[in-house]
Amino acid sequence: MLAVLRRLVLAESPSFEKSAADRCCRLLEAEWRKRGARVERLAQKSRGAHLRITWWPRKSRPAGQLLVLGHYDTVYSTGTLARMPFRVTAGKAYGPGVFDMKAGIVQALFAFSALKNSAALLRKRLVFLWTSDEEIGSESSRKFIESEARRSDAVFVLEPSLGPRGLLKTARKGVGEAEIIVHGRASHAGLAPEEGINAVHELARQITRIEKWSDPRRGITINADIIEGGARTNVIAESASAILDLRALHSADMRRIENRLHALRPALPGARLEVRGGFNRAPLERKFSAALFARAKLLAAQMGLLLGECVAGGGSDGNLAAALGISTLDGLGAVGDGAHSAHEHILINTMPARAALLAALLATI
Ligand SMILES: [Zn+2]
Repeated sequence: MLAVLRRLVLAESPSFEKSAADRCCRLLEAEWRKRGARVERLAQKSRGAHLRITWWPRKSRPAGQLLVLGHYDTVYSTGTLARMPFRVTAGKAYGPGVFDMKAGIVQALFAFSALKNSAALLRKRLVFLWTSDEEIGSESSRKFIESEARRSDAVFVLEPSLGPRGLLKTARKGVGEAEIIVHGRASHAGLAPEEGINAVHELARQITRIEKWSDPRRGITINADIIEGGARTNVIAESASAILDLRALHSADMRRIENRLHALRPALPGARLEVRGGFNRAPLERKFSAALFARAKLLAAQMGLLLGECVAGGGSDGNLAAALGISTLDGLGAVGDGAHSAHEHILINTMPARAALLAALLATI
């Protein structure tokens, strides 16, 4: 497993660099073919190709489909390996994308191999989908994810688990981005202040209003993280804008926030508001993961492992599947820490058990 992981990490695969991503994709493709899987490469114009891998035992007739989902792109640009090399120390493997989520893909590869070689009686067709643009919003892969998820009875997502105990992610917040643009009227701040409509003042009022919608206990957070406005100190600001980060744990809250945003009205006479954007990933609500998690916990217990769960504040492609109402279990990937950072690593000796857990889920659902 470590040897395959090393090869995958050495093939740097930043989402924005098509040729590098394609190189990593070809390597991945070869690993699956070598083990007897049917691999389809879904080439993309400006991104790395996505890989769709299908398998079921020859003799059986599959009654349904299970989808295993992950991404091979990373947030590290080419050349990162020079200062962040693949290395193994004290039971940990380090390197760009090792935790998020190349080790997860390796675990899935070995789970597949084990199932194939053990002639386990699979009831369902297995589809593995490895995409190239999750870290930048899944624009080119979304349609493939959604169409495979729709055909599936359950979706397993190989995103990293959380913490040293490897908690699975049974709920994820929905994530969105919205922009508020205020149109005011410029005027000389000294000679004719009464003729101006101050867009910055209007925006400040709107932000104060929106800030109160946050409810961390319900999993709702709204943050104005980028603001812009005005041109000179002696000119009343003609325009101003804010970009908001939106998060919610429940679909109903997500819709409520969107409605409230679009219903905002200006506080200052004459000011005009424009609201753009909204949620782009709906929440992964726990009701869509509960049954699968219970099964995973039981299977893990049979292997002598205690399996825990957590809520993740960020979204993944698991959100896309769950939003379609499909049972989805996320965080089934590697155990480690430091995703998207210089100390990103995995705990090597957890890999076989996590692969076995995935294999057991695929064989029994
Ligand atoms: Zn990831």
